[in-house]
Amino acid sequence: MPHITKLVMKGFKSFARETNMHLDKNMNVIVGPNGSGKSNITDALCFVLGRLSIKSMRAAKASNLIFAGNKHFKKANEAYVEIIFDNSDKVFALTEKQIKIKRILKKNGQSVYKINNETKTRQEVLELLGQAGIDPHGFNLVLQGEIERLVKMPADDRRKIIEETAGISVYEMRKNKSLKELDKTNERLKQINAVLKERTNYLRNLENEREQALRFKKLEETVKKCKASIINKNIQERKKELNEINKKIELKTKEINKKQEIINKTQAEINSLNETIKNISTTIQKSSGLEQDSLIDEISFLKQEIAGMTARKENFENREKKSNT
Ligand code: ATP
Ligand code: MG
Repeated sequence: MPHITKLVMKGFKSFARETNMHLDKNMNVIVGPNGSGKSNITDALCFVLGRLSIKSMRAAKASNLIFAGNKHFKKANEAYVEIIFDNSDKVFALTEKQIKIKRILKKNGQSVYKINNETKTRQEVLELLGQAGIDPHGFNLVLQGEIERLVKMPADDRRKIIEETAGISVYEMRKNKSLKELDKTNERLKQINAVLKERTNYLRNLENEREQALRFKKLEETVKKCKASIINKNIQERKKELNEINKKIELKTKEINKKQEIINKTQAEINSLNETIKNISTTIQKSSGLEQDSLIDEISFLKQEIAGMTARKENFENREKKSNT
C-alpha cells in the first residue's frame, strides 16, 4: 500500500511560500485555529490528484485557488501542489522508488501535470493513480461534512459509496475499460481477419495464376520440342527422298548415256548405209539394166533397214524424252 511521504504547496490558496509537509506512514493529524488553512491542505490533495470540480475544493473559480496576496506577500502568478508517494513495494508500475506527482495551475486556468518531473496528461496521472486504487473523486478522501452526508443518505447509495471506498468501483471502472478495449480489439481483429481473408483469396488467385503460367510455360516448351522434332523428322524424310531422287537421276543419266550411245551408233550405221546407197546409186547410173534391177532391190532393202533403224532411233529418242520429264 503506497503512502504519501511529502506534500509540497506553493501559491496554493493560503500557502504563499513553498510549504513542505513530511507525512508519517500511519497517521497524521493537523491542528490549528479556525481559518488557519487545515482544510486547504485537503483541497491541495484533491487538486494534485486531478480533481476537476473547483467548487468541491471550496472555490468559486480556478483562479481563486491561486494565492490572492495579503499584507505580507503579494499575489502569486501560479499555484502548484506536489505529492511524493513511496513506491518501494512497486504498487505503481514504474521503476522509481519515489513517485512525484505535480499539478501546476496557471493564471489562465490551465493545468499542467507532471510525473517525476516529466510533463504528462491528466489522463496519464489518473491511470497511474488508478494502479494504486486512488481516485480523485473517490472516497480515498473524506472531506468535511461528508460523514454526516453518508450517515443520512439512503442505504443503497451508502452501499455504492462503501463499494467505492473499498476500491471495488476502481476495479469495476478498470473492468469496463478493459471490456471496451477488448471490444475494440475484437473489432480490430474482425477487420484484420477480413483483410486476411481478402489477402488469402488474392494470394490463392496469384498462386493459381502462377501455376497456370508455369503449366503454360511447360506446355509451350513441349510444343516447341514437338515442333522441332516434327521439323527434324521432315528434314530427315526430305533428305532421304532427295537421296533416292539423286540415285534415280544417276541411274536415268546412265540409261540416257547408254541410249545416246545406241542412237549415235544407229545414226552412224544410217550414215554408213546412206553412203552405201549413194555409192550404189552412182554404180547403178553407170551399170547395165540387169545389174540396175538387183541394185534397186538392194537399195530398197537398205531403205527398209534405214526405215527400221530410224524407227528404232525415234523410239529411243521418245523414251529418252519421257525419262527426262
Ligand atoms: P476551520 O477550522 O474553520 O475549518 P481551516 O483551518 O480549515 O478552518 P481553511 O478553510 O483551510 O481553514 O482556510 C481558510 C483560509 O484560507 C481563509 O482565511 C482564506 O482567506 C484563506 N484562503 C482561501 N483561499 C485563498 C486564496 N486564494 N488566497 C489567500 N488566502 C486564501
Ligand atoms: Mg476546515
